[in-house]
Amino acid sequence: MSFSDLIGQDELKERLGISIEQTSAQSFLFTAPAGMGKHMFADELAASFVCSHPTREGACGKCNNCTYFRAGTHPDVRRYETDKGKKSLSVATIREEIIPDTAVASQIAGKKVYIVNIGNIELKYQNLLLKVLEEPPKGVVFILLCTDASLVLPTIMSRVVEFKMRPYTEEEIFKILSKHNEGDLPEDKLRFFSSFSAGIPGKGLTLIKDEDFMSERDEVFEILMKIPKRDYTGLMFEDFEFFSGRQERISDILLLMMWFLGDLSSLLASMDTKGVKNRDKVDRMRSFLSENKGLTLKNIYNASEAVTDFNRDVKARVNFEAACCTMLLKMKKEFT
Ligand SMILES: [Zn+2]
Repeated sequence: MSFSDLIGQDELKERLGISIEQTSAQSFLFTAPAGMGKHMFADELAASFVCSHPTREGACGKCNNCTYFRAGTHPDVRRYETDKGKKSLSVATIREEIIPDTAVASQIAGKKVYIVNIGNIELKYQNLLLKVLEEPPKGVVFILLCTDASLVLPTIMSRVVEFKMRPYTEEEIFKILSKHNEGDLPEDKLRFFSSFSAGIPGKGLTLIKDEDFMSERDEVFEILMKIPKRDYTGLMFEDFEFFSGRQERISDILLLMMWFLGDLSSLLASMDTKGVKNRDKVDRMRSFLSENKGLTLKNIYNASEAVTDFNRDVKARVNFEAACCTMLLKMKKEFT
């Protein structure tokens, strides 16, 4: 493995290469939301610090240090995760394990590397970590990970080299999903998940395995297709119930809705299916459009606006029921 085996993050790889060459810095911090692959990049950097022949591309992969590292048994590499079920690293771990361990000499690499996922560690406990970051024992390297740099003490930020990860492009996510595509999903579906991941490959990887997600997508589609013929009771009770039962993941549900509406617009505007995200539904959408001949691009646009408004209201914690019913009624008006 080297950085070039990891997909995307070209700018980050360039900076990591420079950090390997300049051995002066001792503390690093990867910041990115969950699902961005922080651990993989942190691991690669850690491997290059214990490797006997590192290059800008990362560890050599051949030396003894690399062999131990890959086996997960390198005696000079320590990993600390947030405690199970907790969102942050425990104080006891910092005080009783990490700090005393930094005083123990390296066994084979001449360096000790600590990969520490700090999570949402409370500010008062970050000071504990700060002490060891301010004056790390010789050869001790800290690679910290967190999801949100704004929760980290400025004094810690000033001691670390920060590596921010950028959202991945759709093409990069497509490559990542293809690489992990054990279920042999067809390209259309992989493309769908790549766009739906919104720059976070982990999201796509999770959704692919989530059978509920695909059935929910079908349900959202059916709700949309039924709207022109739906009566008031159907909208206010059955359809509302669907959304109400999914408040936790409502933004994903609404995004699916927006995409179906976007696809309807594309199909109404042209015969071309190039920009269509839900390829498997093209035939159904075409028959929907021919059954509802009066539907204009303006109507679909207004329906999308109703979805956007609902999404905004949910974020602003407006009464869910009222906001949801408003959306359904507006959509019904546009689709009738
Ligand atoms: Zn090596």
